[in-house]
Formats: sequence, structure tokens, C-alpha cells
Amino acid sequence: MQVQFVGCGDAFGSGGRLNTCFHVTGDAANFLIDCGASSLPALKHASIDRGAIDLILITHFHGDHFAGLPFFLLDAQFSARTRPLVIAGPQGIETRLKQVMEALFENSSKTAQKFALSVVSLKPEQQRTFGAVTVTPFPVIHGESGGPFLAYRVEAEGRVLAYTADTEWTETLVPLGRNADLFIAEAYTYERAIKNHLSLKTLEAHLGDIRPKRLILTHMSDDMLSRLNALPHVAASDGMVVEL
Ligand SMILES: [Zn+2]
Ligand SMILES: [Zn+2]
Repeated sequence: MQVQFVGCGDAFGSGGRLNTCFHVTGDAANFLIDCGASSLPALKHASIDRGAIDLILITHFHGDHFAGLPFFLLDAQFSARTRPLVIAGPQGIETRLKQVMEALFENSSKTAQKFALSVVSLKPEQQRTFGAVTVTPFPVIHGESGGPFLAYRVEAEGRVLAYTADTEWTETLVPLGRNADLFIAEAYTYERAIKNHLSLKTLEAHLGDIRPKRLILTHMSDDMLSRLNALPHVAASDGMVVEL
């Protein structure tokens, strides 16, 4: 399997980074985790075949993780996509998707797609399988609006990939990431505690419990980006590809 960080930035484009969008591919698996506002141009920049993507997992409804969907869906429609597509995310996703479609492209939510589109609500700790991909959502903590908030532990082709999404520290991150082949963790600040987000120092204090086989940091603010060269961890960058 291969993971490409199509975008790994925060909501403010810190460091010129694009909004969150990870592309995971293997022999049979082909899916996105999150589809932030900048994702369609980012996918095209990376020459990724959008028409081969089977599944888009959405962690929460903030624009830097979710607002790329109207662009993705319109592009799919106009590029004559035929492959069925599943979009899965927290409860309320059907309504939220219609709202963002209408806000950005009026009447677009009423257009019948030329391909089969399923929008699926996921509940915390209720495992679901989509083709080659098995997803276990974990509840995380990220404030009062834009939720529910889910982190995902994904198993595909014998590998485990876990992603914290945006969250402050919560004990669910331990089973989420435990022994994962790849643990993608938010590290929004270095040590400064910020409500609703994770600092690297907080994450580090729990790494002994989580014991991921590999850790990659994402969703970093300017505070973290200014320290990248001195960090003892791998940090994501836009376009970066890792083999799983
Ligand atoms: Zn975010
Ligand atoms: Zn967020």
C-alpha cells in the first residue's frame, strides 16, 4: 500500500500547505481520507486519477477537511465518472453535504449523478467494510461545531493505518493508533496547549502507550513548521509518498 499526502496543512494554509487530503492505494484499495477545500486542484497537481477512487472518508465537517467534496463531485460529473463512489463520515453527513453543495454551487445537490453515489453515516466504534477497506471510527474531541468528530483506524491489504483527525488529547487515540503500521497524528503546536487540538508534547507523552510502528505528523501550525528541522519525528509534506 501507498499513502500520498495530497494535502497536510491546517485550516489557514500555514506554510503554504494545502488542506487535509490523504490518498491511499494498494492492489485493491483506492480511497481518500478527508477532502479539504483545496483537494481537487491538489489531486490534479499530483496527477491522481479521481475516477479510480472508490471511497472518501471524512473525519469532520470543517472546511479544511470537507469542503473539497462539492468540487470533487462536480468534477466527477463533468468528467463522466462511471465508477460508484462512497462518501462516508460522521452522522449528519447527508445533510451537511447537501448544505455545502448548495452554498458553493446552487442546485448542485439536486443534480442526479451519472454514477452511483452512496453517502454513509458512520458511528463511533462501529466497524464498516467498504470493498477492500475496513474502517473503525473512534470519537475524538474538537469543539462545539463541525462535528461529530471521528478518527479512523483503517485496515486494508494486511496493513493498518490510523489517523487522529483534528482533536485534543483523548484516550480513544490509544486504541486508535495502537501498533498501527502507520499512525498519522495531528501535531498542531509544539508544546502550547490549545483547545481542540493536539500538541506534539502531549502526543509524545502517550506514544509509549500507542506504540505505532511508524509516526508521521500532520496539520501543523506555523509554530510547528518553524521547528521541523529539529524534530525527532517524520513530518508530512504536501505530495509526500510513503510505502506501507
Ligand atoms: Zn483541520
Ligand atoms: Zn477541524
